[in-house]
Amino acid sequence: MKHVLYGKCVKCGKTYEATPNLTTCECGGILDIVYDYDYIKSQLTKEKLAERRNNSMWRYRELLPVEDTTADTPLRVGWSPLYEADRLAAELGIKKLYVKDDGVNPTASLKDRASAMAVAKAREAGAKVIACSSTGNAASSLAGNAAAAGLKTYIFVPSRAPKGKVAQLMTFGATVISVQGSYEETFELSEAAIDKWGWYNRNAAINPYLSEGKKTVGLEIMEQLQWKAPDYIAISVGDGCTIAGLWKGLKDLYAIGFIDKLPRLISAQAAGCCPLNRAIAENKPWHPMEENTLADSIAVGVPRNADKALMAIRESNGLVVNVTDEEIMAAQKLLGRTCGVFGEPAGVAGSAGLKKLCEEGKIEKDATVVSVVTGNGLKDVANAIKACGEPISIPGRMDLLLEEFDKRGIVVE
Ligand SMILES: *Cc1c(COP(=O)(O)O)cnc(C)c1O
Ligand SMILES: [Zn+2]
Repeated sequence: MKHVLYGKCVKCGKTYEATPNLTTCECGGILDIVYDYDYIKSQLTKEKLAERRNNSMWRYRELLPVEDTTADTPLRVGWSPLYEADRLAAELGIKKLYVKDDGVNPTASLKDRASAMAVAKAREAGAKVIACSSTGNAASSLAGNAAAAGLKTYIFVPSRAPKGKVAQLMTFGATVISVQGSYEETFELSEAAIDKWGWYNRNAAINPYLSEGKKTVGLEIMEQLQWKAPDYIAISVGDGCTIAGLWKGLKDLYAIGFIDKLPRLISAQAAGCCPLNRAIAENKPWHPMEENTLADSIAVGVPRNADKALMAIRESNGLVVNVTDEEIMAAQKLLGRTCGVFGEPAGVAGSAGLKKLCEEGKIEKDATVVSVVTGNGLKDVANAIKACGEPISIPGRMDLLLEEFDKRGIVVE
């Protein structure tokens, strides 16, 4: 790969040749993929991108750590819509708001970006089997993207994973191990099994290429905004790979001169599980927390990518905000009602956080903000119904319909 220099440990600085099987540093630190930006600048221009017909994450090949000869992965991942959310902006009292709906990805979450990268790198490594542990979405996205590429998957999920995600796994033909325990215990078992059988490792904080897949969400936001950086980007945070990836994408674009300003990140975590945000707020090292939230995808008590995530939030002069389950459910309703976007609880946590910061007066009224919805609400229907309630249920009779409307004060326009 002419454009990739090496993998560099974020803890000790040791560098490693960028082979497809790259994992963590011998010191235990996480690796970051380092690029030759001068070379990339000579290869990629905004005009060249604008002409490109490839509406998937692979349109940014020059900025992705794959060989020229590696094929695009089969499912269409990325190039999700960036909606102008004027009604929601008005309700929040800010000038301009965009909603990036990553729930429209093939397996309905942002994780497809990392899983597509995992499949591409597994193919380069000549692997036939990929494995991961996941709160649910990394799992279903890996299972789907691997199935499309003809690779076998072993997936470890905590037994609390919502049915929608487990249904996806079973449909995609994964071998699924539902671990009766926390995400922490699930992760440890997956690492032991990967060690024993030598499968290709799609655990996001272990495999440094996965953040590179996730960074495409940042590349897209900027291209969709015609390279005019917003003031803030709000996103939900669990392990920390997503926010770190987003930040990497933004920094890449800054390094090659495509943008001249970097947005501030808004890191949203659940109040019942916010080890990273707590570390930032208290300016102390992070400590494990219980996993106490209905937002299962960000219920991560022991974040696996703490170093990169904390660095991203600090470097961007970012804001942290913790949202309760009630605030998450309210945001689900609000996004649905004002934008027609259906997010899962973790998917809307960024928007819930943004709403809270707006109410606290922490976002300037003339700010331009992007809120990323990271996963689709259909993955977790039970919680959506909990958040938004049951429909009017009556036999098929007009008099009963009138009675119900009357009772509920519904005035028909
Ligand atoms: C995984 C996930 C996140 C958080 O990503 P991390 O890399 O774990 O921080 C947020 N929202 C959804 C829907 C997810 O699946
Ligand atoms: Zn190291």
